[in-house]
Amino acid sequence: MDESYGPLGILGGGQLGRMLCLAAHRLGIKTVIVDPGGIESPAGQVTRAAVHGSFKDPEALEQLAARCKVVTYEIEHINVDALDKIAKSNPALRIEPPPSTLRIIQDKYAQKVHLTSVGGVPIGDFRPVEDEEGVLRCGADWGFPLMLKAKRNAYDGRGNAVVKDRASVREALESLGAGRPGGAEVYAERWVPFERELAVVVARSSDGGLAAYPVVHTVQKLSMCHTTVTPANSALPAGVNWAAVEAEASRVAQAVVAALPGCGVFGVELFMTAAGQVLFNEVAPRVHNSGHYTQDACACDQFENHVRAVLGMPLGSTELVVGASAMLNLVGGPVDAPGGSMAHCSRPMERALTLPRASIHWYGKAEAKPQRKMGHINVTGDSVADVLRAVRVLDGDELSDAL
Ligand code: ATP
Ligand code: MG
Ligand code: MG
Repeated sequence: MDESYGPLGILGGGQLGRMLCLAAHRLGIKTVIVDPGGIESPAGQVTRAAVHGSFKDPEALEQLAARCKVVTYEIEHINVDALDKIAKSNPALRIEPPPSTLRIIQDKYAQKVHLTSVGGVPIGDFRPVEDEEGVLRCGADWGFPLMLKAKRNAYDGRGNAVVKDRASVREALESLGAGRPGGAEVYAERWVPFERELAVVVARSSDGGLAAYPVVHTVQKLSMCHTTVTPANSALPAGVNWAAVEAEASRVAQAVVAALPGCGVFGVELFMTAAGQVLFNEVAPRVHNSGHYTQDACACDQFENHVRAVLGMPLGSTELVVGASAMLNLVGGPVDAPGGSMAHCSRPMERALTLPRASIHWYGKAEAKPQRKMGHINVTGDSVADVLRAVRVLDGDELSDAL
């Protein structure tokens, strides 16, 4: 590929960075990552070009900027002030999506305020809270349970606390390090009685064009994405008009991305109620776990489209090219299990090798730890029933009843 497109710098060397590097390399684009693990990190093993250091460290970011024309990221918890400074001192460098978008998204409360202000994005009730009284007022207005969320640095449910009733308010605040002067900033969300969670990955090209991937059904386990299924309409509640829900989910996801500057891929998480109402949950300005299925099920996967978008190339088709698809995350199990933490991943991987339409995507992490994402398996089939059957083979009895 033309030298003018690269190298592409990536902040973070985890699995998302690794899959971005793999996609870039397929296109002939060189990549450089920044990660404390350097070339031993999941992405570093692929690109072999790395700045050793944290993506929060301004010096490491400066070193990366000196080697790249475009910088993107695999994680949103970045030092935005440092990024802004680097953008100013390197006028030829493009950061995509831009720091202004990161600033909005990093604060989950600011994210919701912004998306409320643009209109067209249905969002459940939410409110800033500072202390026990504030949370009690939310409970009085909305009822319990309700959700307390840290404004910043949250992922995989770490940063959320369910407030069951009036008596659990203090404990929930304390669990997030909030409710005292100088503590973490939190806000409250009204409980959404969702029937299922949906997600849509949306790509935006440098000319502003949006392309949405199919709607997926995501199932979380311990607040972490566990399985995704596409099409997302299996076992719907009676009376739900799926065509309308699907169109609305795609519309909302695109409205969210339209409200955030920059090019690249964004992952939009949504709730669907039993009545078929779609509500926004959160957006990530990057490739997303709910889009891993696209590697084996769509014409051009989310990683390649992110690379294309941030480098100013035309987007590839987001079309589903199989009847149905599912993705199963491989996470480390308990350390005291027979075979250790890794055993939890080995069993589904061995089973995947016996299935004709399953592919393993391993991240190359040094060791397994409980709940650490180690890899994923994508399965494709002619129908949702086919892929669910395959997921049950892979996952044994663990699969949530939600499917
Ligand atoms: P991620 O790893 O996706 O960034 P996160 O830590 O930012 O996750 P959220 O997406 O805010 O956390 O919430 C995690 C999960 O908690 C959701 O996927 C959903 O299952 C549940 N949840 C979040 N908000 C609510 C709500 N208001 N009502 C009910 N359940 C909720
Ligand atoms: Mg999040
Ligand atoms: Mg989430």
